[in-house]
Amino acid sequence: MDHTDEKEVRLKGINVSPGICIGKAYLVGKEGVDVVNKYYISQDNLQNEIKRFKSAVKRAKDKLQEIIETTPEELRQHIHILETHKVLYKDKMLYGRTIETMEKELVNAEWALKQVVSNVKRMFDNMTDPYLQGRAADIVQVSESIMQNLMGAKALDIGAIRKRVILVASDLSPAETSQIQLEKIKGLITDLGGKTSHTGIIARSLEIPAVLGLERATHLIKNDDIVIVDGTAGCVIVHPTDQTLVEFEERQSNYERYKAVISRHSHLPAETVDGIKLEVLANIELPEEVVSVINYGGDGIGLYRTEFQYLSRLQFPDEHELFDNYKDVVEVMAPRSVTIRTLDISGEKGLSYASDPDEKNPVLGLRGIRYCLKNPDVFKTQLRAILRASAYGRVRILFPMISRHEEVLAAKKLLANTADSLDKEGIDFDDNIEVGIMIEVPSAAIMADVMAKDIDFFSIGTNDLIQYSLAVDRVNRQVSHLYQSLNPAIIRMIKHVADVAKNNNVEACICGEMASDPMNLPILLGLGIDRLSMNPQSIPIIKKTIRSLNVKDTGLFITDILKETSETGVMKILMGAYGNILQDTGYKHDKGVLTNLSTGGENSI
Ligand code: PEP
Ligand code: MG
Repeated sequence: MDHTDEKEVRLKGINVSPGICIGKAYLVGKEGVDVVNKYYISQDNLQNEIKRFKSAVKRAKDKLQEIIETTPEELRQHIHILETHKVLYKDKMLYGRTIETMEKELVNAEWALKQVVSNVKRMFDNMTDPYLQGRAADIVQVSESIMQNLMGAKALDIGAIRKRVILVASDLSPAETSQIQLEKIKGLITDLGGKTSHTGIIARSLEIPAVLGLERATHLIKNDDIVIVDGTAGCVIVHPTDQTLVEFEERQSNYERYKAVISRHSHLPAETVDGIKLEVLANIELPEEVVSVINYGGDGIGLYRTEFQYLSRLQFPDEHELFDNYKDVVEVMAPRSVTIRTLDISGEKGLSYASDPDEKNPVLGLRGIRYCLKNPDVFKTQLRAILRASAYGRVRILFPMISRHEEVLAAKKLLANTADSLDKEGIDFDDNIEVGIMIEVPSAAIMADVMAKDIDFFSIGTNDLIQYSLAVDRVNRQVSHLYQSLNPAIIRMIKHVADVAKNNNVEACICGEMASDPMNLPILLGLGIDRLSMNPQSIPIIKKTIRSLNVKDTGLFITDILKETSETGVMKILMGAYGNILQDTGYKHDKGVLTNLSTGGENSI
């Protein structure tokens, strides 16, 4: 490969879609819409200007409709995302406010649109949640296509790219991403966007390596620069040296080989050497992810995070909309089970239309079940939709952020009332629906024996359980070294919950990120956990690792682990006993550092 003498530059972004690719950069920009002039219009011309705006919206919407109609078969499951964008064109916040601004300030349509969009952006920027930032991106993308039509600028035509390249863009809308032709585009890098952005989701299902959120990629990369995209580690290397190229070519072929082996066996059951079958389920955030759950061999959905549908809009969704959404997922997954978690919002994962911006400590605030119990109408609407969907497959309900027994009782009471009213209306639902709670707050773990009497299953949310138990913010980089899943305190807490579950004959599942790392499996199995739920991509490697473990052995091994007093001690014992197995199942052991090829994560031993 030809390359220049320019210095190698490494950029760190968000690992959105795994895999490695090497190629030439191809920058795509939205020319002509950056500079927007302001001018005033007379009262007489106002209606004409509004008409001009409306017809730009119509043209942008028609173009999107055309994209929807010509979307290739493999992307049909994402039509829903494009449909969401179609609705945004007429959103009050964007459409209504732009017209209002034109009327009030008598300014041109472009200027009014620009003002409205920067206000929306500012509002969303004050919220730290990546979901919300993703939703702001949706609005910006929609507004850009209107702006292109208003200004007569040329729209980005990704479908017309003729070379095998790596796309570099400031941001790509789902409509643009869905036009990517796999034989032309090797990888994708953008300045904006994150893991839960729609663009990220589409990239994952196209299985092209993608690193988003690089901030300055479009400034630092020029057309035809040689670029390496490591979508597994979330890193991009510009002007790689010969040595780096050789290293990454090797990594690339290792990864492809690993992926081929892994996916060949993804549909085999997760059965241990001594014949114990475990359930390996998926965590999803959007209905369209069910396709990848099935492709990756998921036994069902262990955690459907329903916040997304509330966050991607500007007012509460109604029962009908929620029901349609849940029913789609339940029907596609049937007869496999779908665990639907009720709304887990907080000031951080807040709703622009319903959260209190003054909450000082949102993760300890009016979050999850606390919010729902305080807003019974919102809660009941969701419960009705979930119950109605339960008539179409196997649905389980999961309550988040439980910290007190009274919350379980109150939530169940509301569920029973909701079921009663559906019954009276003659609407079908599963009247034996299983009810579970998230164990993600230490008080719930400690009180698990009390909780167990009133529920059918526990779902241990280690993401928050670690955060709350070790008092380590899960998104604060400064303390990320203290965020330890194998800290003895966490292992003991999981043990307590697993023991309580066994003694009370209720199920215990782990649905935090901890479940998706093969390294943790000998310990989780040893603690008696037999259900795991994780991001769909991790399912094959986890099933493969389970097939090489022996539950009886892990049961003996756990007694040694429980004697350890530090995470380092735990790791040492773990590697001594299982280092070889973990290497065989996708970990590359190199100079005391184990690199997980499936996630790119590193664990020192
Ligand atoms: C958890 O806390 O582990 C969990 C699965 O929930 P979330 O990541 O949505 O907070
Ligand atoms: Mg949680």
